[in-house]
Amino acid sequence: MRMRIGLSGGIGSGKSTVAGFWREAGATVIDTDAISRGLTATGGAALPAIAAEFGPQLIRADGALDRDAMRALVFADAGAKQRLEAILHPMISAETQAQAAAATTSAIVFDVPLLVEAGLRWRQRVERVLIVDCAEQTQLARVMQRPGWTREAAEAVIRQQARRAQRRACADAVIVNDEGLTLATLRLQVLALAQRWGCGTIAGIG
Ligand code: ATP
Repeated sequence: MRMRIGLSGGIGSGKSTVAGFWREAGATVIDTDAISRGLTATGGAALPAIAAEFGPQLIRADGALDRDAMRALVFADAGAKQRLEAILHPMISAETQAQAAAATTSAIVFDVPLLVEAGLRWRQRVERVLIVDCAEQTQLARVMQRPGWTREAAEAVIRQQARRAQRRACADAVIVNDEGLTLATLRLQVLALAQRWGCGTIAGIG
């Protein structure tokens, strides 16, 4: 029996880091953000539909989606956000399912930043939900270290995302990844959880 795990958490909480430890432990990790980026990169399958819906000015000279322009558009207009999601979500879903169908490992970890925000749509596809949680101050500090990010931009994303309590309420397990937790300890927590959830037969555990 293959276990499907939904992994989520706020921006900068440490999802990708935790996903990496699952991968190290032998699980297949499916990164829905990477899938989404691929759909809107140069030659991406979603670009014709996006250009038809929003106009060709949203596509840059190199053929990729103009992310800054798109972000500004959906930030200002909830209807535009819905129209974009109506294009992207079915495509992300199809690619996610294709990758999951091709997986041969006993655990599949779906890295889904907005799993909680998506409601039942994602909850129904997985046996377990794992939330990576940390203090907002820690999120801010991590995100502001990234090139091009300001405190205001990071705070705006945090405000748009689900509240920490909402996320925790959906969780089968919570990994608290606050400042001061070493990566070595975080890794051990992931491996212990994999074992607790019966994914202990995957390579690298036990
Ligand atoms: P996003 O939502 O933006 O994709 P994320 O939740 O995937 O972010 P990560 O990219 O895993 O978060 O972590 C954010 C940054 O914080 C990374 O640079 C990562 O290396 C660092 N980080 C995460 N957890 C720890 C930790 N316990 N100790 C040290 N650094 C950490």
